[in-house]
Amino acid sequence: MPIYEYKCTDCSEDFEKLVSGTNPDVSCPKCNSKNIKKKFSLFGMSGVEKPVTSAGGSGCSSCSSSSCKSCH
Ligand SMILES: [Zn+2]
Repeated sequence: MPIYEYKCTDCSEDFEKLVSGTNPDVSCPKCNSKNIKKKFSLFGMSGVEKPVTSAGGSGCSSCSSSSCKSCH
């Protein structure tokens, strides 16, 4: 289950919520407002580095490898 970080637009409260299902009913724990913004998942942000694949264009468009040992 992913944890999402929300921010209430009414009282500026930051809170985290475990979200299950496709239609989560999330409200502010402080003022009970539904005017909230989802910020991002804490999973995937905590210590997980995404592999950089051709950032800026490494010159090879036919393979996804960063080094073109196999296709050139
Ligand atoms: Zn609030």
